[in-house]
Amino acid sequence: MQFFRLTLAIIAIGIILLMLLMLFTSIIEKRKGAALKACILLLPGLLLLLAAQYLSSYFDWVIAAFDILVLAFGAYLLVPRLLFSIPKEDLPKGNIDERTVMFARNEIKPNTERYDSFYKEHPDLKENDDNFRQLPGLLSKHSTFYNPLAYEASDAIFHIVDSLHKHVEGDVKEQAKSIDPKDYQKFITEWTKKSGAKSVGFTKMKDYHWYSVGGRGERYGKPIEQKHTVGIAFTVEMDHEMVKPAPKSSIIMESATQYLQAGIIATQLAQFIRNSGFEARAHIDGNYQVVAPLVARDANLGEIGRMGLLMTEKLGPRVRVGVVTTNMPLDTVERAYNNSFEDFCDKCLKCATNCPASAISDQPKEMIKDVNRWQINSEKCFNYWCTAGTDCGRCMSTCPYSHPNNLLHNIVRWSINQFPNFRYWAVKMDDFFYGRKTKSEALPGWLKH
Ligand code: SF4
Ligand code: SF4
Repeated sequence: MQFFRLTLAIIAIGIILLMLLMLFTSIIEKRKGAALKACILLLPGLLLLLAAQYLSSYFDWVIAAFDILVLAFGAYLLVPRLLFSIPKEDLPKGNIDERTVMFARNEIKPNTERYDSFYKEHPDLKENDDNFRQLPGLLSKHSTFYNPLAYEASDAIFHIVDSLHKHVEGDVKEQAKSIDPKDYQKFITEWTKKSGAKSVGFTKMKDYHWYSVGGRGERYGKPIEQKHTVGIAFTVEMDHEMVKPAPKSSIIMESATQYLQAGIIATQLAQFIRNSGFEARAHIDGNYQVVAPLVARDANLGEIGRMGLLMTEKLGPRVRVGVVTTNMPLDTVERAYNNSFEDFCDKCLKCATNCPASAISDQPKEMIKDVNRWQINSEKCFNYWCTAGTDCGRCMSTCPYSHPNNLLHNIVRWSINQFPNFRYWAVKMDDFFYGRKTKSEALPGWLKH
């Protein structure tokens, strides 16, 4: 019976340590509610510890039964994912016409030839688009979350992002190509991270990565030539403090900041590759020829979740993606399909619950253009942006994967990845500590006016 008392003490210490970690993490993250709940849950841990020490031998069988139940539950939770079969995934067929995406449609002005010809070809989109044109619009003074500081700052940052567009392409310099491709690979990986990227990957470019036709600015209506064989994808982190208040104005300022960061990294990298004697193009905000999340996914930087964004292992969807395409002979990876994200999304639905526009599906995945997946309603989402004045990001801020990159959340994310039976309970734990339908947090003090 000493064995069962010792086991109970170990379980109790485990609970106490976990709750202490939760408590300290919540204090650092300024999550009062979660800290309070962690304090309360310290109590059962302490009681179990006292029980292991002082309960009379009359209760030995209760202790043994309790231990066996906890150990059995633990064993059930920790069945590794290797023992589960992973469904085969369908790959997209065909290409997206960039003219049909919301940002491109937002640039079409009424009473122009472009307007007439686009809606003649897509009459089903006209009513919605005429509707969002009546709304205040992104960064508008009349929008819900108008904040002159954050809006003017965002506008300034986007202005600089625009100025990078002239650097996405350029002439290739004549160079003696004497450097071993392996050295280029290592250099690009390390330099990109040194420049601020959180992860970097290389994939072979596939047909479905490319838009078929350009949809923005001078690229409108021009067919896109798939001229590069390698895609270099990277992620930059969106600051948790700025994302938490979404859809308030800090979110668009942070989006702009990270689009700029990704834009700088991508354009400097593309220029470096051209200087080294190879073709390269940077794909940055407002100037993409590729569907960046798909390139990043195939470079093994993450998977696409319910909300349609790239979900990464350590930051979830709280990232922006940059891409450079090139004909430099770099090694590429085969995609290691990881269904843990989709399986977790299946159980979670938190983004769908919290989306103010009801734009995220709360249903199981469905076949869309031959691929079994979720698709957000981009019209509803963009219409909300045009009312809010920001790019919302409520889905990103409420996603359990978006928690800060620290010991506690990394243990949870790692366990979600490794142990399929743990996922359901991870959703329940996240709901318990942080709430299911959450309120957006206050703006950082320096952004208030
Ligand atoms: S909130 Fe939940 S369902 Fe939505 S993307 Fe994140 S993990 Fe998936
Ligand atoms: S950005 Fe906002 S409106 Fe759009 S899908 Fe996410 S939560 Fe919904």
